[in-house]
Amino acid sequence: MNFRLPRQDKFLFELPKVSKMAQRPYIVGNWKMHGTRAMLAEARAIDRAAERLIKVEVALAPPYTLIHATRKEAGLIGVGAQDCHPADGGAHTGDISAAMLKDAGAGFAIVGHSERRADHGEKDADVREKADAAISAGMNVIVCVGETEEQRDAGKAESVVAKQLKGSLPEGEGVAEKVTVAYEPVWAIGTGRTPTVEDISAMHVSIRNVLQKLYGEEAGAGVRILYGGSVKPDNAAELLSADEVGGALVGGASLTAESFLGIIIAAAGGEEG
Ligand code: PEP
Repeated sequence: MNFRLPRQDKFLFELPKVSKMAQRPYIVGNWKMHGTRAMLAEARAIDRAAERLIKVEVALAPPYTLIHATRKEAGLIGVGAQDCHPADGGAHTGDISAAMLKDAGAGFAIVGHSERRADHGEKDADVREKADAAISAGMNVIVCVGETEEQRDAGKAESVVAKQLKGSLPEGEGVAEKVTVAYEPVWAIGTGRTPTVEDISAMHVSIRNVLQKLYGEEAGAGVRILYGGSVKPDNAAELLSADEVGGALVGGASLTAESFLGIIIAAAGGEEG
């Protein structure tokens, strides 16, 4: 049998508390609609480096077509999908179910990304259905929320995000531990613009409050909240220093191992090991 023990696991056994490991910064690359098999070399390089960067939990969400190959080529990092269909199966030409993604090697699904909300008209209720489907299939979910520039300018950023969370997050016993939230201001995605650290902190504290109301104090405190939107190697340390930021969801800068590793190293505190 061709069984390979994930090399990072040996460190889990040496640490006093697994719950501490759960608090490692979580850095997730979203490749969006980029990548053919030629890009697997980047995934391999990221995976090799992750072996040394054990202070950080690293994952990639490649396009569907690369999930299986990425899982095979990159044995240490998490591999996930960028979306899933809410139904188990059926007459949905061109769609893909959570169970199929799990079977292909995905351990998590991103749901509610603002590009899906904008391009496919997905509403909060759709996002929740997808999150429920992914969890039922045995995956974790990263639920994305974020305000537009107009909403921020109108002083509504926190209320908009709170409404999205209440409408999109899956509910139920034990669900919180399967959930990560990604706060991604729409106006910061792919633009090179970012909120201030103070604004990120304020939003993340507000998201934490919603999570604790929804899931209870303890379970809500354990949900990681990622920041996403123009995270790069040179701003990652600053953005990750904001209150309640548990990692980053990274688009453009995750497409090469070089830039993605710059962010991962920043998340590790600037050092390997
Ligand atoms: C994203 O699409 O989730 C994202 C954060 O993109 P970028 O890092 O390119 O802004």
